[in-house]
Order: sequence, then structure tokens, then C-alpha cells
Amino acid sequence: MSDCIFCKIVEKQIPATVIYEDDEVLAFMDIGPIVKGHALVIPKRHCDPVTETPDELLAKLHIVAKRIAEAQMNGLGADGVNIMQNNGAAAGQEVPHIHVHVIPRFSDDGHHWNWNPKTYDDFDEMNALAAQIQNHL
Ligand code: AMP
Ligand code: ZN
Repeated sequence: MSDCIFCKIVEKQIPATVIYEDDEVLAFMDIGPIVKGHALVIPKRHCDPVTETPDELLAKLHIVAKRIAEAQMNGLGADGVNIMQNNGAAAGQEVPHIHVHVIPRFSDDGHHWNWNPKTYDDFDEMNALAAQIQNHL
């Protein structure tokens, strides 16, 4: 995709600090780290969103994410790692080329997700939503 910023990184039209590369997958440092050391794992070919990404390629992205998580723990001394992946503007996705965020976490990094749990009105409401999902699996 000619106007995709991550395709441009793959094509080396714009610079990136690459930490891993193979035939299908590229990983590089996020320029706006949530926590310093934050990396992104992308497929070299343009795919988006997760539902349009072939299973095998999706598996490869997550296998590389796992390796990077391990390297962040062993190399940076991270105490934990967030692995996450956004789909669609409503989910906070800004770059529409699938990417897995691998974010090293340190006990004292000071970052807090705005994780704000809600409650269902009752079990019927939850069960109805569960059925709507399950009917499409
Ligand atoms: P998302 O909101 O899930 O689409 O995340 C996009 C991520 O891409 C953000 O964390 C950005 O900081 C990161 N990003 C955008 N442009 C670049 C770039 N040129 N090099 C590295 N990371 C980038
Ligand atoms: Zn792309």
C-alpha cells in the first residue's frame, strides 16, 4: 500500500530501528513508546485488520512477539510485558497495517492503563451478549 507508513518502513522508504527481521515479519522500536523499549511486530505484506490476516501469519507475529517479550525481560530487565493489538479507530488503532505492541513493564514504570471495568445489569444481559457472539463462532 503506497500510503501506508508501515509498508514504507518495510520498503525502507522511511527509517526505523529494526530489532528483528525474517522473510515475513519485521519488528522495530515504536517511536512513541508507552514505556521505553516498546516494540512493534508487523507482517512485511500489508494486512489489516486481524480478521483479514491469515491464521498462519498471525501465529508468526505472535511467536515473534513472544521472543521479543523474552528479550525485553532478559535484556532490559523488564518485570513484565504487555502484548496488545488494536483493530479499528474505535479500538484506538492509528496505523491500519496490523501490528502487535510488545511493551516492557517495570514495577516502577509509573504507567497505568485506563482499565475501567463496568458491570452488567444482570446475568441475562451478559448471557444475551454471549449468545450473540457464540452464534457467529
Ligand atoms: P496503534 O494505535 O495500535 O495503531 O499504534 C500505532 C503505533 O505506531 C503507535 O504506538 C505509534 O507510536 C507507532 N508509530 C507510528 N509511526 C511510527 C514510525 N514511523 N515508527 C515507529 N513507530 C511508529
Ligand atoms: Zn501497510
